[in-house]
Amino acid sequence: MTFGRDEHVWIPESDLEGMSVDTLAVRAGQIRTGQLEHSDAIFPTSSFVYGSAAQAAARFGGEEPGNIYSRFTNPTVQAFEARIAAMEGGERGVATASGMAAILSTCMSLLKSGDHVICSRGVFGTTNVLFQKYMARFGVETSFVSLANTDEWKAEIRPATRMLFLETPSNPLCEVADLAALSAIARENDALLVVDNCFCTPVLQRPLEQGADIVIHSATKYLDGQGRCVGGVVVGPARYLDEIYGFIRSAGPTMSPFNAWVFQKGLETLPIRMRAHCDNALELALWLEQQDCVEKVYYAGLQSHPQHELAKKQQDGFGGVLSFLVRGGREQAWKFIDATRMISITANLGDVKTTITHPATTTHGRLSPEDKARAGITENLIRLSVGIESIKDLKTDLDRGFQALKD
Ligand SMILES: *Cc1c(COP(=O)(O)O)cnc(C)c1O
Repeated sequence: MTFGRDEHVWIPESDLEGMSVDTLAVRAGQIRTGQLEHSDAIFPTSSFVYGSAAQAAARFGGEEPGNIYSRFTNPTVQAFEARIAAMEGGERGVATASGMAAILSTCMSLLKSGDHVICSRGVFGTTNVLFQKYMARFGVETSFVSLANTDEWKAEIRPATRMLFLETPSNPLCEVADLAALSAIARENDALLVVDNCFCTPVLQRPLEQGADIVIHSATKYLDGQGRCVGGVVVGPARYLDEIYGFIRSAGPTMSPFNAWVFQKGLETLPIRMRAHCDNALELALWLEQQDCVEKVYYAGLQSHPQHELAKKQQDGFGGVLSFLVRGGREQAWKFIDATRMISITANLGDVKTTITHPATTTHGRLSPEDKARAGITENLIRLSVGIESIKDLKTDLDRGFQALKD
């Protein structure tokens, strides 16, 4: 595919038709300059020059495609957008400064005052704040429902409902939404199904293939995978993405070329990383289930998980995040966390390094006691974002926690 730019050449996407996500992760959305570099070039420039005044006029007038200014046209950012869009099976991708900027830009572009949103209760805490505090100020009302209960979604539909928003699997309890059922509800009611696909990535789940209208990512998590940059991206059909692009151009929550380059390189190893995360997480989930000090393990890969069959059908793996309850309360949970030595105590997730979190006092600390209870965020809950270290060493480190509980 040629984009009509004379500065560089896009490697033809038609050669990649029908290829798998593993190949697209490495090959899609590549540009090559006259230097014939093999790795992706990076274009850290705010603006671009023109061959003549007439050409500048044609670019600004939209008569000639090409780079203008990096708030809305940067080749490195476009390369990342093209790669993730190919992996998700979407027509177009638009990158943003953060995952939150991706969600905000989607709402600002596709909703208006008077519209109604239905959102799953377990979404990322800041997403909750965005809907409840900020979107509400602009006349967009949001109802919150249980992710896995399709009837609740149906019951909340109103004539003004314009968007269904969810994350699946949920954080931290790994509940799974039925994407096909929710997509049917959205379609019947002329609403958009928007899926934050941060936990699965396109390697494990491609929501657009299952009827979602728009996919959102916090690239900060698995897409980077190594904790270096903050960024986000929206993928979907051009009729929606052109609107979102227009908002980014006007409002400016743009991804920097440097970050885009880091994410572009991150995508190349995403398929092998995701499989390593999944393998480690499943083995740890099975191991944790056998521990005396563990009351319950939440992971969709376990037979005991209520939506295990649905997850198996809808995902190509169960992901790297799991949660479990230790016997006791906050004191025992903190004691367990503090006894680990290698695993990082942090609220971040999606990193190659395993992280351990106490949701009730960190990621979900701002929820009222009632909301915490309703969301199942108890004081004895611990979340692991399982990395790619050796499974043996992970068990050794977690075993320090179990020893501490026995003392
Ligand atoms: C982290 C996260 C976000 C927000 O992304 P940022 O890049 O931190 O702005 C949104 N959704 C989910 C599921 C997340 O984990």
